[in-house]
Amino acid sequence: MSVGAAVHGVLRRHVRAMGSVVGVDTDQPVVVLTYDDGPEPPQTERVLDALAERGAHATFFMLSARARRLPWLARAVIAEGHEVALHGIDHRPLSGLTPEEITRRTLDGKAQLEDVAGAPVRWMRPPYGRQSPRAYHAIRRAGVMPVLWGGTSLDSADTTSDGRVASAMRNARPGLILLGHDGRAGAEDGVDDGDIPAFDRGALTARLLAGFAERGLSGTSLERALERGRPRLGAWFA
Ligand SMILES: [Zn+2]
Repeated sequence: MSVGAAVHGVLRRHVRAMGSVVGVDTDQPVVVLTYDDGPEPPQTERVLDALAERGAHATFFMLSARARRLPWLARAVIAEGHEVALHGIDHRPLSGLTPEEITRRTLDGKAQLEDVAGAPVRWMRPPYGRQSPRAYHAIRRAGVMPVLWGGTSLDSADTTSDGRVASAMRNARPGLILLGHDGRAGAEDGVDDGDIPAFDRGALTARLLAGFAERGLSGTSLERALERGRPRLGAWFA
């Protein structure tokens, strides 16, 4: 065996053992739309309307404390055929928590979300997309899989609508997981992330779906994409 093949074998085993979901291997012309930090009226409702108008679906990585404060909105997401996943009880970065705390909080957040939404929760997106190997294992011990992304609409950044669409289209391909937000974590979520750019997230969703449609792609949730695809794993540590 060549050194290259040996290194490759080690990497493959490492990714199998330590892999987060970073995309979907599929021959279907779909991209996975994801929305973090909600639910948050009225933006979540605007996103839901934009998705419904185009028959698209998405996965919403919710903060479970928010979902408990807004159970009707979490249930509306499920009622419209989307997927609910966990972003945390609140938005505190995992780096400040012990592995035991991460596992317990992930278990609690998952239970809270499942209770509110009435649907199973399979995925967890660590706040800020940051996890250490120890945090990764702590999340897995709670029975959920970390999900990151392969492209972003830059909707947390102060840029133009054209810039956001261009950023998302740069990575447009079947199986892309696109990062987006229907809310913004703040003091009540345990952090101070500053102001969220003020714009209509439903209108951006509509533009993104139009851009993907020009490329023959439709938007769907992770669970729906996996009905005819397999999770693409990558070692993602930050
Ligand atoms: Zn977030």
